[in-house]
Amino acid sequence: MSATKPGLRERLATSDEFVAVTELVPWRGPVADKAGRAGLAAAHALVDDPRIAAISITDNAGGHAMARPTLLAEEFLARGQDVIVHVACRDRSRNGLLSLAWELERRGVQNVLAVSGDHPVEGFEGLSRPVFDVDSVGLLALYRDLVDGGSNGGSTGASAADPPQPGFYLGCAVSPFKRLEAELVPQYLKLALKVRAGADFVIPQLGYDARAWDELLRWMRRADLRIPALANVYVLSRTVARLFNANRIPGCVVSDELLAVAEREAAAADKGRAFFLDLAARQVAIARGLGFRGVYLAGNLPAADVARVLDTAASYAPDDWRALAREIAYAPKGSFRLFAGDPATGLATDELAPGYARTLTPRARGRARRRASPWYKANRLAHRVVFAPGTPGFRAAGRVYERLERAHLGRPLHVLEQAVKVPLYDCRDCGDCSLPDVAYLCPESQCPKGERNGPCGGSHDGICEVLPRRCVWVRAYERLKPYGEELAMLERQPVIVDNRLRRTSAWANTFLERDHFAKGTP
Ligand code: SF4
Repeated sequence: MSATKPGLRERLATSDEFVAVTELVPWRGPVADKAGRAGLAAAHALVDDPRIAAISITDNAGGHAMARPTLLAEEFLARGQDVIVHVACRDRSRNGLLSLAWELERRGVQNVLAVSGDHPVEGFEGLSRPVFDVDSVGLLALYRDLVDGGSNGGSTGASAADPPQPGFYLGCAVSPFKRLEAELVPQYLKLALKVRAGADFVIPQLGYDARAWDELLRWMRRADLRIPALANVYVLSRTVARLFNANRIPGCVVSDELLAVAEREAAAADKGRAFFLDLAARQVAIARGLGFRGVYLAGNLPAADVARVLDTAASYAPDDWRALAREIAYAPKGSFRLFAGDPATGLATDELAPGYARTLTPRARGRARRRASPWYKANRLAHRVVFAPGTPGFRAAGRVYERLERAHLGRPLHVLEQAVKVPLYDCRDCGDCSLPDVAYLCPESQCPKGERNGPCGGSHDGICEVLPRRCVWVRAYERLKPYGEELAMLERQPVIVDNRLRRTSAWANTFLERDHFAKGTP
């Protein structure tokens, strides 16, 4: 890194500078072909802008195979330009992620954005099979373990004689633009888990609603999450606005109202380019005013457009952002709000929204409990009596399983367990059961990404990113809320499945303390 162009970590950790990051979505095909050369040339021009703290390179975004981000990262690092490399869990097992970490360190990459990744949408001779061995939380824990010199041998396997390595500066994502409470609140809870797992900074997913940004920052302060947040600003075009509005790119939200504006502006001779660049500049000014530590400019922008957005944003007077924030209010109709609105600003206050606060009273919860399904109640009872560690039932079951395993009766017992769990839970016999973690819903069969540490960012109106059914974490939230347990649903260690236990008895593994519960997950 050249002395004149400090990197992302340095700028965020040692100054109060409002940083700018630009996103580069690699192309499909070799770097040497026409698209590759054009893409690289456009990105190289960004290196000359001293305001660009990092170029952020996506990893098979949208579930499409594209050029490998590490190759491009090396190009920029050689020119003194810091980068963020996205690492998605979709295409690699935990061992693949680990060896990638060593490759990244070798190539000089410091900043990693850890994401679960969009589900694949294509592949050679059919659909590519996703991996999702761990999720974004597991990935953060794995890479933090590297930094801390944990069981994976420490940073780049440094010897005792080597100076300590600074390790990765780890980023994560959060989605504050969800329409439903049962989608939004788990996003925030998962962000807290990501910070505990090792995230150093956060980049929210895409939306055009200043109040949602404000609520995110207020919630982070309330939860004492003291990591820098970079506001995500995507420079739209009519085509992209249509794609986002049609929910074709998971987690990117353009409301019907904003689409109508985009259609109108795109009728201009410049196809709305001036309007879309100005919209982005206003968002940058708002982000700075709200207290974001920087902006993440997306949309594969040429250097001239990046400069124009940043220059326009800088031309606003310090207080202009308040008026601008009233204009960027394109939340989809009926969006849930966590905090009460402030009529004076159009933003939020620190008070919980009255409608939401009313649902948290003991009376409201009691009413909701009476409506809870008998099946869910039966699961809770069974857990309390037999599966909760430390209870007499749990100890007795442990003794029984110990004796039966000694008598080589473990296998028939496993068959019996499956005869119960397959029809009742669509169990996939992972052997490291997370039913108690997800309100007695199986994440192996009910979530296409097998997310065990909260929802991915892809749900839309409560429906899964991949399959036409409700997100398993939305259902879990709704089951837990009547019991006042929803806000604690992710207050635990990251759950990382132990694949040694596959096709073994999950009940035996629980009672004989071989599964993730025995490793400290409550
Ligand atoms: S069930 Fe929820 S967490 Fe799982 S892939 Fe679908 S949207 Fe994501």
